[in-house]
Amino acid sequence: MESRNKYDAILIGSGLGSLTAGALLTLQQKQKILILERHSKVGGFTHVFKRQGKYTWDVGLHYVGEMNAESMPRMIFDYITAGALQWNKIPDPYDTFIYPGNKIELFSGRKIFTDTLIKVFPEEAEAIRQYVSDVFHVVSVNMKNIVLDKMYSGLSILNKPFSSPRSKYLHGTLEEYCRYRFRNKQLAAIISSQWGNYGLPPESASFLIHSIIATHYINGGYYPAGGSKSIPDTISAVILKHGGTIKVNSRVSRIIVENNTAAGVVVLEKKENGFSETEYYSDCIISGAGARITFGELLRDPKSIEIINQINSLKQSTGTVTAYLGLSENPSGLGLNGGNIWIYDSYDHNKNFANRNSSIEGKPQLAYVSFPSVRSGTETEHTAEIISFIDYEVFAKWADNPCKKRGEDYEDLKNRIMDKLIDLVESKIPGFASKITYKELSTPLTTEHYSGNKFGYIYGIPSVPERKDLKFISNRTHIKNLYLTGADSGTHGIAGALFSGVFAAAEVMGKPKSLIKIFSEAKKFKKRSR
Ligand SMILES: Cc1cc2nc3c(=O)[nH]c(=O)nc-3n(C[C@H](O)[C@H](O)[C@H](O)COP(=O)(O)OP(=O)(O)OC[C@H]3O[C@@H](n4cnc5c(N)ncnc54)[C@H](O)[C@@H]3O)c2cc1C
Repeated sequence: MESRNKYDAILIGSGLGSLTAGALLTLQQKQKILILERHSKVGGFTHVFKRQGKYTWDVGLHYVGEMNAESMPRMIFDYITAGALQWNKIPDPYDTFIYPGNKIELFSGRKIFTDTLIKVFPEEAEAIRQYVSDVFHVVSVNMKNIVLDKMYSGLSILNKPFSSPRSKYLHGTLEEYCRYRFRNKQLAAIISSQWGNYGLPPESASFLIHSIIATHYINGGYYPAGGSKSIPDTISAVILKHGGTIKVNSRVSRIIVENNTAAGVVVLEKKENGFSETEYYSDCIISGAGARITFGELLRDPKSIEIINQINSLKQSTGTVTAYLGLSENPSGLGLNGGNIWIYDSYDHNKNFANRNSSIEGKPQLAYVSFPSVRSGTETEHTAEIISFIDYEVFAKWADNPCKKRGEDYEDLKNRIMDKLIDLVESKIPGFASKITYKELSTPLTTEHYSGNKFGYIYGIPSVPERKDLKFISNRTHIKNLYLTGADSGTHGIAGALFSGVFAAAEVMGKPKSLIKIFSEAKKFKKRSR
């Protein structure tokens, strides 16, 4: 074995989970780490891309909650970026939900959220108050369980989960909860309006995951100053400064396992004239590539196959299309402040989801609009994104064609879908279409190509109630010395991936001591930087 190919830890993928774990291992233990990324850019879903040398879009970060200076996620970000990552608060209303004949705007703050809903649905005032209390209750019990479990495996059972009479509903779907809590169906729909953030409508989505998202955003949204690429840029800088190595264009094709113990990885490295295969070795392999890739592609043992079958047996989410738009001017001229706009064809979200392929022949049932340039605070050329759900199967017949060479009929279909999305937004925001100077549509095939995620899934393991019972959603795996980080080892989203990196690093360095140390170092860093 060549010693230059031996590392203290090897991390697969450079998503936020891997970057966070990698930064903590270098900061706290000066470990010699290697991060291997299949794409040409670092960051996973936090990377950005540019067109015409001027228009920039994020691909998987539109808003993040809880980035006020006092919050623990913010303190961890500050610590792993040496304070270099700054956050812009998205102006209120940070979320606007447009339904047929109705518009609801969300302003930052638990009380304002409650009052806004009570103003529209005064007859449901008590149910609204109870809902807000329930989402915080579920999240706090869940958080206590996670922290106890991460510190001392298995101890979470001592902290009885959801022991109140409400428990029946708290374990189920969002729809079951809403039926129990609200009489008014429109109120239930409005409460559920952010379901696009976890990819499944109320009839399938876990109420626990809904609660995590709802409380995460209740105090408003934030966006990284300089755009979402500031996240990988600033964390990578810390990793490199402390001696870590990050290699792009390096796809791990296999995890080397000997006697049920991970010992290294086989990597296909892109070179000028093709690929070369290299082996890297370590007694600590951390995969941030997602459960489907880790267990389904990089491992081949019976237990991994069982895990994949378990994932496949769950109700699945679906793929997305995104229209990336260049604008001739700041959208503020249209009365837009940079907050998110969610457009729904009906109050029935299950129907909106079921009819997700209607963008092909009929009218799109839903669209989410975001404004990266306004939020970043540094872009002078303005951009917008329109996202909608659509099945991979719609595009499957082009899956074997190379990216950007899928043919005219594929491009025609993309253009048709893109125009319908733009028409839908124009119908709610008159004048929007006339500002568009550049347009391009990504499909689930694009997501599959760039992320490696089969079928273009964007959120990993689906957010169904059964998710919380899946034992493999953890930082440890059934293989010794193989750890998981990233959204599939905890919960998805930027905050979920950040904490997955914290917990993975703590697992490797030895918990509970190291977990306490990470949190205390983050707090100390904050005190020092004041
Ligand atoms: C369209 C979209 C919108 C989103 N909006 C938001 C939002 O507004 N707010 C929010 O909080 N979250 C949002 N998310 C979710 C959030 O971006 C993700 O949950 C989070 O970034 C996932 O991080 P991760 O660490 O799991 O890794 P990922 O970002 O999934 O990265 C995994 C990395 O592993 C690499 N990889 C895979 N296989 C291999 C291999 N074999 N070898 C080497 N490398 C490999 C991939 O190329 C990728 O870079 C959004 C996601 C999407 C897609």
